[in-house]
Amino acid sequence: MSAPTDDTIVTAKGALEVHAVHHASFMLSWNGLHVLVDPAPVVEGSKAADPTAEYRALPKPDVILITHIHFDHFNIPILEAVAGPDTEIVSPQNVYDAMPDDLKAKTRVMKNGDKSVIDTIPVAAMPMYNTTPDRVKFHPKGLGDGYILTFGGRRVYIAGDTEETPELAHLSHIDVAFVPMNLPYTETVEAAAKWVRDFRPKVVYPYHYHNADGTLSDVNAFKKEVGGASDVRLLQWY
Ligand code: ZN
Ligand code: ZN
Repeated sequence: MSAPTDDTIVTAKGALEVHAVHHASFMLSWNGLHVLVDPAPVVEGSKAADPTAEYRALPKPDVILITHIHFDHFNIPILEAVAGPDTEIVSPQNVYDAMPDDLKAKTRVMKNGDKSVIDTIPVAAMPMYNTTPDRVKFHPKGLGDGYILTFGGRRVYIAGDTEETPELAHLSHIDVAFVPMNLPYTETVEAAAKWVRDFRPKVVYPYHYHNADGTLSDVNAFKKEVGGASDVRLLQWY
């Protein structure tokens, strides 16, 4: 079974296929390996009515990355439904602590700064937190992980729910980045664009842009503000 392909990135070893599921969740497929990020229920207004069904229709993930414990990123029934006997889950400590034993047995805990190789894919866990004073309560430093994965020499950065932090401002040699821009939980379109202009990933996908008030952030404005700094690619996340 293969996942639907919404976009393709060329790597030194075959194509990396990107499938947007919704909001913060997507599947990356490369040489028969499937990496699923933050499988979670739909947010209000999402395109998918039954997320479990949508995930069941995808290939069994070899790796599931969980960025943090919020409901739009971590969901035990969906993990139970999609994790196979050979699936390895990667998560921060507090997500692991919230799991039932059967999921814990499949899970490797990574903290900010940890590096590992999972199913031949190098994985680095990155900081992910708010810096704006009235948003720090949403994502305190140390509780969540962003991830950098390397597929055939291409470095793919999954930001999670974060703002531009000192550690993240000048990430180097990022080929592909997934950058959030919703309020009040992450950052404005303008701040996200400024961050992208600072670290200049070759390709950037705005994701996680459904706001608490039910609106979607203006990803076309984001694209305009990024300008020539990065190839902004818009996928259907909602
Ligand atoms: Zn969050
Ligand atoms: Zn979120």
